[in-house]
Amino acid sequence: MQGTQVAGRATQWAKERAKRANPRSYRDAAKVLAQGRNRDRRKLANNTWLERRQSFVSGVERIAVRLHQTDVVVYRSDGSTKLDSGGWRTVTTKDRINRFGPKGVRVWSDKGEWYVYRTGNTHGCYGVPRKRTPFADGVVIGPRGGVRSGAATAQELRARKILKERIRRYAKLCADSLPLPMPSGGDCWDCSMVTSDGKTLGDRTLDTTHLKSHLTEGYVVPSLVWHALEEAGYDPKRQIWHAVAFRDGLGHWDDRPIRSAVIRYMARRLGLSMKGA
Ligand SMILES: [Zn+2]
Repeated sequence: MQGTQVAGRATQWAKERAKRANPRSYRDAAKVLAQGRNRDRRKLANNTWLERRQSFVSGVERIAVRLHQTDVVVYRSDGSTKLDSGGWRTVTTKDRINRFGPKGVRVWSDKGEWYVYRTGNTHGCYGVPRKRTPFADGVVIGPRGGVRSGAATAQELRARKILKERIRRYAKLCADSLPLPMPSGGDCWDCSMVTSDGKTLGDRTLDTTHLKSHLTEGYVVPSLVWHALEEAGYDPKRQIWHAVAFRDGLGHWDDRPIRSAVIRYMARRLGLSMKGA
């Protein structure tokens, strides 16, 4: 009886400790893992895990904070930290990076673009950063909070510009391809399959490779257009029917809803902010 009580209290402690587990450095993370029963893995928050990673570079150990399928924060034993959105620049990703990222460094979004800045280096009552660096996936923060490498390069910004242009062209292609057949199981699986929580298979697995291939192949997926319209708050059936009606009759119609819905849908999933979306 007494033994059970002691065990009960110990479990309680473990639970309390787990609640307080808010690592921000390799040392914190190593401590958190050392306390747990499982020395390689510990839950930190919703869909968020602290996990020891296999070390490929000799002498540098790594512990990652994984959100869904992405290591959003990777602590290294040399004191540096790597940040990565995995292309998912969502509020949750930003929250996890700011919660578990290195102390004194924050990711801040301004008009949809992400920046990294040092918290000490701000001015004004809103704490506007004096110096900010465009965020890039894989950005490395040094042990003293300096942005060491991986900040968005000219090359990367160019690649993003090309991707945005491709999305715009794809959205126009979708609008020009109306009337579309109704969505069916013959569509791209990641676009058409909807899991029990209402998400598409692609969103569920956070896989965006199919979206990129639709862009390059110019494959207009009826399910994708359908979900894009739905997500933008339109009634997909009405939009598609309207298009048909106007095409057959008056010969002109407003294709903006479909274009902007597709742009927004793609931009959101590929981690871009786009005007007209
Ligand atoms: Zn697809």
